[in-house]
Amino acid sequence: MNLVLLGCPGSGKGTQAEILCKHFHMKKVSLGDILRQEADKGSNLGNTVSEYMGKGVLVPDEIIKEVIKNNLGEESFLLDGFPRNLNQADMLKDILSSKGLSLDRVIYLNVSEDVAVSRLTGRRICKNCGALYHKVTMPPEQDNKCDKCGSDLVMREDDKEETVKRRWQVYMNQTHALIEYYSKAGLLSEFDGNKDKESVFKAIIDNLGHGEDKES
Ligand code: AMP
Repeated sequence: MNLVLLGCPGSGKGTQAEILCKHFHMKKVSLGDILRQEADKGSNLGNTVSEYMGKGVLVPDEIIKEVIKNNLGEESFLLDGFPRNLNQADMLKDILSSKGLSLDRVIYLNVSEDVAVSRLTGRRICKNCGALYHKVTMPPEQDNKCDKCGSDLVMREDDKEETVKRRWQVYMNQTHALIEYYSKAGLLSEFDGNKDKESVFKAIIDNLGHGEDKES
């Protein structure tokens, strides 16, 4: 099964990607994670990527195309954070057809702006192992330390309030159009992403199992 996860920043894509990939034994292809790893390397490409990410705007499509090509192979996959605009959606279609692959479903997590902003500004991430926390809804046992590896938790640079606002605008201007695009293609399943992660996960696996179009 090949899936795309679609939703605004803070819709819970990263959280659902993690548990869905474990459940269905899919490869998780998270563009944000791959780009952050590249940025951490401090390579020329990494520095370029980092500039765009720090501003909360999209990394240019030519860079993204190479990243995607190198990360889609034979295994079934879940794409988190790609595509992010109509050009990338066409790009994905071409890459998949050149590999004889296709998409089975696009999971759209619909969430209100208030919920998304509070999730992002409260999010903390382990610098070492990448585990996710939230200072209110999922705090670590020990203040600011990762439960899994004991390393310090940090706030993502682009989770600061100003950048979050810009990311929201970029989403509305460029990514939101994909909802109609995939709906017309008959691939979209919509879920209420304001709910807690277990409820959203259950709704998704029920839907994938039953092959329905809308959450009941
Ligand atoms: P995310 O972790 O998915 O919220 O992505 C963080 C940042 O990475 C975004 O604000 C963009 O700067 C960049 N990014 C992630 N995915 C893409 C993509 N498909 N196209 C362009 N930029 C991306």
